Amino acid sequence: MQNFKCYADSRNKGFCVHCGGPYETDDHVPSKVLLDEPYPENLIVCPSCLKCNNDLSDDETYLACLLECVIAGEATPSKLRRPKIAKALEHSESLLKRLQKARSDRDDGIIWSIENDRVRAVLLKLARGHAAYEYNQPQLQEPDYLDFRPLCTMNESERASFERAEEGDLAGWPEVGSRAMQRLLVVDTHDIFGVVWQCREIHGIAPAEFQQCAQLLLGSLLVLPNRKNA
Ligand SMILES: [Zn+2]
Repeated sequence: MQNFKCYADSRNKGFCVHCGGPYETDDHVPSKVLLDEPYPENLIVCPSCLKCNNDLSDDETYLACLLECVIAGEATPSKLRRPKIAKALEHSESLLKRLQKARSDRDDGIIWSIENDRVRAVLLKLARGHAAYEYNQPQLQEPDYLDFRPLCTMNESERASFERAEEGDLAGWPEVGSRAMQRLLVVDTHDIFGVVWQCREIHGIAPAEFQQCAQLLLGSLLVLPNRKNA
């Protein structure tokens, strides 16, 4: 992805994008545990306080490991696709045990008990990171709405709504000087709006107000139905 310098309002910078606390470290969004080497160029970093960076790091490791275990159908390091995650689980007996305990066999397939708070924390982190990085509009408040679930549990219209910008969504424009605005002017808009991010004006409310909406897809293999053990 092309890298841009952010020229937007500097009052929206210089503090932790997760809690508004002090800028003490750079936080990778997404965390490297969700990526494999060679890493993409221009990894995204956002200002963060040490507490948010450390606290969220455990949640990200949990989610990365959970995704791999769900895809593999079992919590066994040697069966996982990503060597990095297999290694992480080999080194964390407690996490491995938690994930093994989370798996159960039912007649209709494998069921995973998910630690919702941890998944939610990571999704919110990703959303906040993108809001700050791309739009220069840090979102410190709680979101109006945050939901996550396997794609295979969505009906047709929910899936269609998830995968495309709804009518009118492109009516809002990113802040002048933000990376999103620069992308909009120099690259295919699909790059920013097609899959992951939308920034839209809320019609009927003050025209200056914007709502940000993040749609994130984690682990596309999760669309597969649960597999039964052979
Ligand atoms: Zn913080």
